[in-house]
Amino acid sequence: MAVSAGASRMFPSYLNSISLNKTTEKLNKMLSPCTVCPFKCGTNRYKEKNGRCRSGLLPEISSYNIHRGEEPPISGTRGSGTIFLTGCSLRCSFCQNYPISQLRNGNEVSVKELSDCMISLQERGAHNINFVSPTHFVPQLVEALMLAVIKGLKIPIVYNSGGYDNVEVLKCLDGIVDIYLPDMKYSDDARALEYSNAPGYVEINRAAVKEMYRQVGELKTDREGVAVRGLIIRHLVLPGNISNTEKVLESIARISTSIHVSLMSQYFPAHRAVSMNNLKRKLNRDEYLEASNILADLGLVNGWTQPF
Ligand code: SF4
Repeated sequence: MAVSAGASRMFPSYLNSISLNKTTEKLNKMLSPCTVCPFKCGTNRYKEKNGRCRSGLLPEISSYNIHRGEEPPISGTRGSGTIFLTGCSLRCSFCQNYPISQLRNGNEVSVKELSDCMISLQERGAHNINFVSPTHFVPQLVEALMLAVIKGLKIPIVYNSGGYDNVEVLKCLDGIVDIYLPDMKYSDDARALEYSNAPGYVEINRAAVKEMYRQVGELKTDREGVAVRGLIIRHLVLPGNISNTEKVLESIARISTSIHVSLMSQYFPAHRAVSMNNLKRKLNRDEYLEASNILADLGLVNGWTQPF
């Protein structure tokens, strides 16, 4: 798809129409053999849906709506314009969105329809477009975004992922994504494999977060406190310290203690976790308190803890 030079969104000047077209070309090539996410299944997404994410060429969405439950600078006063992408390459046993991510409840849409969803969310007052689980659909999202920009999309783009992202793909998003909102789920590969079936998660996740930070830096907000650019890292504290929170937070502090961290207490057993011995209970208050203390001890003063 060609991008007109008259796009109204303020991309950095170096991202002119030629470089945007080159970016979409490069990303589209990654669809066959597919190397869009770290699994690098090698499937031909133009013809098949037999990769790990079971996604093909057309984007699939489960919903698009105004969401007010994100971190305060993402939800702001008018809400975040979430677009939930169907499917996921991760297989988290405790996924709270499993009907979307693993049962794949959703519908195929055209790139044009996806761009219309973005415009509709902007018209409804959303502060941003928040792609939830975008990793396996980055090429399609960038194409849709280019079209939305031509139609007048101006609000910031949020990339809200499980943090299991291919750095080569992320590099293509430099200057396109304004706010990164990745998870850092684990600091132990064996646990990442056991509970999310994500081989090599730790190294892949840390490299992805470093690239995100390189692109957008620390969180910046406007006068109303609404995010305009930057990185927010989410960490869900799991029962029995399965997530090894201390090591995760230490790895964040090594990048910068100014990074905004959202330390989440909202774990409840969902999906396969309901029958797994160490995941079938809620987090307890002491476990969350301990995680909060680690956060403070490491000097990670920016961000949010959740009421228990
Ligand atoms: S995006 Fe899907 S098809 Fe492509 S490598 Fe990842 S899991 Fe495989």
